Amino acid sequence: MSNKKQKPIANQEQDSQEAKIDSQVLPHVSLPPALSVKQLADLLQVSAVEVIKQLMRNGVMANINQAVDFDTAAVVAAYFGYEAKKQPVSAQIKRPMPTGDGKLSPRPPVITIMGHVDHGKTSLLDAIRKSNVIATEAGAITQHIGAYQVEVDSRKITFLDTPGHEAFTAMRARGTQVTDIAVLVVAADDGVMPQTIEAINHARAADVPIVVSINKIDKPNSNPDKVKQQLADLGLIIEEWGGDTVCVPVSAKKKQGIDELLENLLLVADILELKAEHDCPAEGVVIEARLDKTRGPVATLLVQKGILKPGDTLAIGNTWGRVKAMFNELGKHLKKAEPATPVEVLGLNAVPYAGDSFKVVSNEREARMLLEKHKDMQQKAPTSAKTLSLSALSTQISAGQIKELNIILKTDVQGSIEPIRNSLEQLGDEKVKVRVIHSGSGSITESDVLLALASKGIIIGFNSRPEPGAQRLAEAEGISLRYYNVIYELVKDVDKALKGMLEPVYTEVIEGQAEVLAVFETGKKGNVAGVSVKEGKLRRDALARLIRRDESIHESRINSLRRFKEDVKEVATGFECGVKIEGFADFQVGDIIQSYRQEIIS
Ligand code: GDP
Repeated sequence: MSNKKQKPIANQEQDSQEAKIDSQVLPHVSLPPALSVKQLADLLQVSAVEVIKQLMRNGVMANINQAVDFDTAAVVAAYFGYEAKKQPVSAQIKRPMPTGDGKLSPRPPVITIMGHVDHGKTSLLDAIRKSNVIATEAGAITQHIGAYQVEVDSRKITFLDTPGHEAFTAMRARGTQVTDIAVLVVAADDGVMPQTIEAINHARAADVPIVVSINKIDKPNSNPDKVKQQLADLGLIIEEWGGDTVCVPVSAKKKQGIDELLENLLLVADILELKAEHDCPAEGVVIEARLDKTRGPVATLLVQKGILKPGDTLAIGNTWGRVKAMFNELGKHLKKAEPATPVEVLGLNAVPYAGDSFKVVSNEREARMLLEKHKDMQQKAPTSAKTLSLSALSTQISAGQIKELNIILKTDVQGSIEPIRNSLEQLGDEKVKVRVIHSGSGSITESDVLLALASKGIIIGFNSRPEPGAQRLAEAEGISLRYYNVIYELVKDVDKALKGMLEPVYTEVIEGQAEVLAVFETGKKGNVAGVSVKEGKLRRDALARLIRRDESIHESRINSLRRFKEDVKEVATGFECGVKIEGFADFQVGDIIQSYRQEIIS
């Protein structure tokens, strides 16, 4: 429903006695020209249901995702004790953090193209590349390097050449956000599809502004108005309809509307006031990397601050190198690369990973030192720190460290989404809010896991299970998946988590087993078991149990581990050692000592 279809709110007087605050000075709330019911509820810090009720009392029927105009929203805001002020359009776009602390200068925007499969992302990237005067003047053949730049009115725009929200969120999951603006491609003949919604949610979760590009307008069955309506229903209201979303109709095939799209991207970039420090050692991120048979490791880097030059020494991910040569996407040698410039770089000692960051350092020694530090930090980071379980989040919520619980909800059928989402979103209070950042029907996909990882969220499956790839990724990254088939149980657990009362669910991971070969009496200090490690390893301080004839007779922890009178941290398979167990001395030959650890699974 667009704001145009709504009846104006009448009879405000009638409700004015009920307004929580009336004559005194009201606090201000800044509202855009149009917004969804949900956005309004969030801004007013009340539940969407209360907003919907208030709208109904005034004769406006709207569901949580539908849009209301400013005037309607202002009346609802007044009821809840706020005076609404209209935001200028430019205020609605969040500015990204400038890169660098020193003197900042403008930099080009970095754009990612997203949208449903076959809606024309690749065709649009191609059309944009071909519209670029610089690219065509030398008659050069463009090469895929992962990103490219075009020039419009002497201003540059950088496009990442891997379209799709999965790549975008995969980068975020690695801790890097490079995109300033997301272009959402929606085919005019097909309309909003599941991956369109996913793309919107991924961009929103990252706070990246969306510019809509309605593609395939050359097709006889194209229906751009239907697309605009569908987007409005998702809270993405285009400027023409009083919203703040820029929308440009294009045909990637006929190369129509491309210049308008580029001009609009520059306008949005102006609002964002993108800046970076230029006068500092260069830093940035790896866009993609590979091993070339003849040229060795080749990486495309996006410079984020400083100016990268040939000869610079780089610490980059888990490797380092000296920039032997730099090229742009036309294979042209570059002497320098300023912020937001993608460059292909030769001279690295190994292939880094996409998403790794790089930094120019003064010499090889410094590069090696940085790498050592990096490796050290990676080793020290306990694996459990990566685990994002609902119970772990619950602890952080009760400690006041988290203000928002991000949830990705997957259900078996579309019809289950709304009731669950509504119940969940009513749970929060002023201290912590529940945000369902993405929902959909079907199995849990890798893209869901990446979004959870990037947004520090959790995934809830309601009668929905993960795809094998998603399960593996979740396990590797420590993302917890919670499954339910009763809505009440689901809502109850999230509620408990919000109140900091959710008990963690543990799983036991066996680390190793050893057999007692001899028992040594050591007087008052308790007996020592002389053991041979048969499987895995024994670790000092690990939880341990003593098993005799297949029965566990004592559970505590290993408090001493010695080899040849030396205290050791761990002993691996095939080795013998002396073990003491806390609170236990009655070892017998043939006993099994099992060491294990507890891991939170949800
Ligand atoms: P992607 O999966 O989103 O990258 O989509 P592609 O760029 O591969 O395009 C999917 C199909 O749509 C291809 O057959 C394109 O030729 C076609 N296509 C893309 N843009 C347009 C357009 O503007 N008009 C028409 N008629 N077809 C288009």
